[in-house]
Amino acid sequence: MDGNDSASLSARRKRTRDQVLAILAQHSSGLTRAGLSRMTGLSASAISDCVASLRSSGLVAESAAGTGGATGRGRRATVISLVNDEGVVVGIDFGHAHVTAAVATTTGELLERRADVLDVDHRPGPVMDVAAELARSCVERSGHTMDDVLGIAAGIPGPLDIRTQVVRPPTILSDWVGLAPAAELARRLGHPVTIGNDADMGARGEQAYGAARGLEDFLYIKASHGIGAGIVIGGRPYRGATGIAGEIGHTQIPDAVNWCRCGSRGCLETVVSITTVRRQLAHVLATHQTALDESAIPPLFELSDNPAAARVLTEAGRTVGRVLADLVNCLNPAALVLGGELGSAGEPFAAGIRESVARYAQPASAQAAEVITGQLGAEAEVRGAVAAAVAATRQRLTAVS
Ligand SMILES: [Zn+2]
Repeated sequence: MDGNDSASLSARRKRTRDQVLAILAQHSSGLTRAGLSRMTGLSASAISDCVASLRSSGLVAESAAGTGGATGRGRRATVISLVNDEGVVVGIDFGHAHVTAAVATTTGELLERRADVLDVDHRPGPVMDVAAELARSCVERSGHTMDDVLGIAAGIPGPLDIRTQVVRPPTILSDWVGLAPAAELARRLGHPVTIGNDADMGARGEQAYGAARGLEDFLYIKASHGIGAGIVIGGRPYRGATGIAGEIGHTQIPDAVNWCRCGSRGCLETVVSITTVRRQLAHVLATHQTALDESAIPPLFELSDNPAAARVLTEAGRTVGRVLADLVNCLNPAALVLGGELGSAGEPFAAGIRESVARYAQPASAQAAEVITGQLGAEAEVRGAVAAAVAATRQRLTAVS
């Protein structure tokens, strides 16, 4: 076997192992080998090899099946399930205006969660301190110590170069440029930290625990202060050559002229963001006697039944959908999963996106792409960071030869 064959065999084993671990994570009562084979589409011998390797790493356990578990050949079937390690994992989500930390078991069950509202974009040093403090206090409140932490992952709302782990210019998140968030957090928490883009983390959260379970090809759209896409192709995140794929908020919109924080004019997120939509809602929801302060606007999902608000949200959806239609043509996803504060607004926003995708994408691609609101809402990114921490922990514990 030459080097290439051995590399591709190793990659195939890793893919099989990830698939099996992901499916077992969704079936806490365990599955038989036949069940695993059916759900992954992999051969019985591939499943058997994989289970043997996971058992020797201590990641899965085998126990006798309940009633009806006998096989046709008289042997009792056994059930494979994930071993719930004693330790915990930590997920951290940085938004533009908040930090959230969560502690979970190694099967992804959430134990504690804490959040703080603050200006993330302009003060990276203090923000790292707050994130580390939230993570430590979550671990403590869950009844554990930092010694019990097996893995930590964090999502940041900006362009991270996956080759160097450093935030890149140009000027999105400009005060973070040159910062290495993984190293900064690792220094404060005393553990290695896996880092990624927030939209990729949101995609991962919905894929592991939410609306995208079982989907291989989909886009997760985080529409909030900015607009970004987490792209999943063949079950895996697609990050591009340097890790900054999915910056759809900086697509040019015809006739838009306002300057964007990236240094261009007329970007999508200068036209649609939670800030512009709140401003528009404050205008349409004000009565002729009372001006409405933007801060008094209720959560957007409570406004679906208000016809004027629904119009604003649908129009915002149409604008985002025009950009997404081109991506639907390129990538032929099975779903567009909507997240972030604006993406979680519900049916009016989703309806606008659906309308533009139907109008501007090729009919066959548009038909294949279901537009759905995510199930995890504001939790998607931190749950995705938990899923990334679980995966990093399992990878570290499993040696694939
Ligand atoms: Zn821009």
